[in-house]
Amino acid sequence: PEIISRQPTINIGLIGHVAHGKTTVVRAISGIQTTRFKCELERNITVKLGYANAKIYKCEDETCPRPLCFKSYGSGKVDNPPCDVPGFNNCKMKLLRHISFVDCPGHEILMTRMLSGATIMDGAFLLIAANESCPQPQTLEHLSALDILKLQNLIILQNKVDTIQQDQARNQYKAIREFLKGTVAEGAPVVPISAQLNYNIDAVCEYIARIPIPKRDFVSPPRMVVIRSFDVNKPGCGIDDMKGGVVGGSIIKGVLKVNQMVELRPGILDKTADGKIICRPIYSRVMSLFAEQNKLQYAVPGGLIGVGTSMDPSLSRSDMLVGQVLGDVGTLPEVYIELKIRKIKLMRRLVGVEKKESEKQVSNLVKGEILMLNILSMATGAQVIKARNNSAKLQLTAPVCTGIGEKVVLSRRVGGHWRLIGWGEIED
Ligand code: GDP
Ligand code: MG
Repeated sequence: PEIISRQPTINIGLIGHVAHGKTTVVRAISGIQTTRFKCELERNITVKLGYANAKIYKCEDETCPRPLCFKSYGSGKVDNPPCDVPGFNNCKMKLLRHISFVDCPGHEILMTRMLSGATIMDGAFLLIAANESCPQPQTLEHLSALDILKLQNLIILQNKVDTIQQDQARNQYKAIREFLKGTVAEGAPVVPISAQLNYNIDAVCEYIARIPIPKRDFVSPPRMVVIRSFDVNKPGCGIDDMKGGVVGGSIIKGVLKVNQMVELRPGILDKTADGKIICRPIYSRVMSLFAEQNKLQYAVPGGLIGVGTSMDPSLSRSDMLVGQVLGDVGTLPEVYIELKIRKIKLMRRLVGVEKKESEKQVSNLVKGEILMLNILSMATGAQVIKARNNSAKLQLTAPVCTGIGEKVVLSRRVGGHWRLIGWGEIED
């Protein structure tokens, strides 16, 4: 229970059309600017994660008026800060949630990137700009993706309300409600905010505090989904100062401990003399665990963590290990290079594209065509070997560590971009 003060225990995704305010709302809640990392290589590696953690507090005095009684701080804040609501200054605040934000990088509308983040989300904010009509293409596309993944705990943020009049906001609210009908977000709260002016952020904190912490499995062998990886050594760094490869991601079950041995799969890819792809798992030791600036002795499911390992750092540079699975030696699932998928469901229409293209129906899978697959945080190309009504056999370009029943999200190249077309699940 006490771990929540050091490690975030839930992940909240940021989705929505470009420039609707995802990064700004993360900054409003956590105080952290998530997009600054690129030029600041020397900074703390967690900044390079491109993500931010935050703590949500509530005044311990039940009579403190809501939503003022809710407040957020960065994750470095120690417990029980004083309440700053006038008349309640003598009260302490209680830590309710410690969260990680999974922010999709600014102009990167690449669905595959958004989808690998989505596999670890426990909830999400869907940003909708108040000064544009709803839905914009990626508003629809991102929501469709979460619909496929059946993500719960969505909170709709009607952002930039500072730029419009009250009656316009009301009208857009109706349009948003209409748009959400029949989706996973149908009953979701719609909160009017101005991320830039910090308006109504306390109400957002209240909704975050209502997101239930999912029941976690602490007893199984640990398994972590890798969504970032890096080499933290500066160029020219001496061999004695060299640090091992670092991976970032979220534990999906079990508890990971400093000093334990772990395995990463699929691991390192190689080709045999006759051109067959083989993979060798990476074995290494957990040298350190951290959640932003907090060092941990062990890490639990939920929340973004960094794992410092003893592996050769060149293996982990520039996100090369994204999509891999890390866990106790000998406990990880199989690695597949060929997959059979069943229960394929295709979307009725193409989403995320311009109006005239969205009239297009999604056609059935065709033998020989190339698709993009997302399985957990792995994205890989695949060629359709065999296609039936709702099942298919696929040859993957990169191997995936996964298991039977796991969801596979399918995308197809349309007009120069990978577009979501449907999903299925892995068959024996
Ligand atoms: P992202 O692409 O979804 O991450 O969007 P950003 O957070 O980068 O925001 C895009 C632009 O909208 C930036 O110039 C922000 O300053 C601006 N912006 C964000 N929130 C608000 C808001 O509440 N009101 C106004 N007027 N502008 C905002
Ligand atoms: Mg952004």
